[in-house]
Amino acid sequence: MTTFSDLQLSEHVMRAVADSGYTHPTPIQEQAIPFILMGRDVLGSAQTGTGKTASFTLPMIDILSVGRARARMPRSLILEPTRELAAQVAENFDKYGRYTKLTKALLIGGESMADQLKVLERGADVLIATPGRLLDVFDRGKLLLSDIKVLVIDEADRMLDMGFIPDVERIVSLLARSRQTLFFSATMPPPIRRLADAFLTNPKEISVSPPATMAETVSHGIVVVSDEGEGALSAQRRKRQALRRLIDSHDVRNALIFCNRKRDVGVVHRSLVRHGYDAGLLHGDLAQSTRTEVLERMKRGDMKLLVCSDVAARGLDIEDLSHVLNFDVPSNPEDYVHRIGRTGRAGRTGQALTVALPEDGKYVAQIEQLIGKPIPRITLDGIPDAELVIGRRRRGGEVKGRKRPAPATRPHHDKPDNRAANGQRKPSPAETTAPPRAAAAATVAPPRRQRASPSSRPSSRDSDKPVKGLGDHVPAFLLREVKLPKKES
Ligand code: AMP
Repeated sequence: MTTFSDLQLSEHVMRAVADSGYTHPTPIQEQAIPFILMGRDVLGSAQTGTGKTASFTLPMIDILSVGRARARMPRSLILEPTRELAAQVAENFDKYGRYTKLTKALLIGGESMADQLKVLERGADVLIATPGRLLDVFDRGKLLLSDIKVLVIDEADRMLDMGFIPDVERIVSLLARSRQTLFFSATMPPPIRRLADAFLTNPKEISVSPPATMAETVSHGIVVVSDEGEGALSAQRRKRQALRRLIDSHDVRNALIFCNRKRDVGVVHRSLVRHGYDAGLLHGDLAQSTRTEVLERMKRGDMKLLVCSDVAARGLDIEDLSHVLNFDVPSNPEDYVHRIGRTGRAGRTGQALTVALPEDGKYVAQIEQLIGKPIPRITLDGIPDAELVIGRRRRGGEVKGRKRPAPATRPHHDKPDNRAANGQRKPSPAETTAPPRAAAAATVAPPRRQRASPSSRPSSRDSDKPVKGLGDHVPAFLLREVKLPKKES
């Protein structure tokens, strides 16, 4: 069995590893570290929970131990899709780099740019950033990227989902070609492969435990709540009741509770608090300071339940999380795998429990196919259960009663970074081939914070019909008069 001393890491790094209590490298560390130390590009197929962060931070600390950073000219760059992940990677550098003099800077949205610039100004060996904030700073002339020797692109598939790929492409075009590039993604759909081909030179390809087999230590369960003869609201209420029963009937020490929609994060959180549960909430619209504080409380064990959206919770490392609870079945089976990856980490056991409605049948089938096994059904006292139905259209609270065209991009996720959402860029080739889910969701999701007036709200019967084209809505630009050029005589 490989030990850390077989990996040729420096004594400083080995001491920090020993302090962390690690006895053996994880498979991604065992395979990636020697090649990174050799200066090779790496294409890693691995998700969070596999020890991926240490697989690149440990060797980077040694690579960067030679040389010094100059003001505004970082020597390495790590791109992360969310602020939380960026902050987590920064913590890893602190932990593993404690016996070195390495300096680091963090550029993430939602926090004071002035403070971040000050750190950059002093010179940073490692710059950890989200793409939008990084480009903002670069465009203001406060950052030079010509000295980047090592580039890490982490969670590439999530970057694609969140519309960040054009920003990433631009950032890479600003870097020297002679750099070393480390590229990690949980999944490798064709657009991600194409990007990897464009960014990497003769990479060492490493794949560890594909997501479907990742969480062997996690047991699954699903309760299907009947919606028979009831409206959507009642079904949602029943789901909340089922969630409470799940919490009460299982040995939940601490849990993340995932909702598909930001709005439901608030609703579920309020409902739990009203019923006396110790719960907080986390989604992308909260101020960064609040998000950080909530996370800290959860990590310290001062909070039992955290209701959250997918993006806010992506990759979060909460030690020894006993449960992941899905208040909604995610539409994308890979999101299920990411969610449950928050529990059962580092060989511990965990439980993933899901609340479903009969109409979620199609999505549950996709998840079961991806994880390669059926999810056992659970029945709860006092909650009428039902069978899953394949082929029934999902009612989805937000879709009901609205006939509106969808925003063109990013319908499903909340946004950790403003830039990609505000139309400052053209879609890239990778984006235009984004997975079908994003496109499908875009046709049904309503624009944010727009509410139909009571008079314009269609009847509940209408709401079940699919909206064709633009529905009743005619966008203003179609009504604008077009001035034709005068004919030349
Ligand atoms: P990551 O995949 O980077 O999110 O890491 C998941 C968790 O595994 C973190 O809590 C790390 O501290 C932990 N970890 C990383 N490397 C090891 C190791 N070699 N042995 C035990 N735990 C580890």
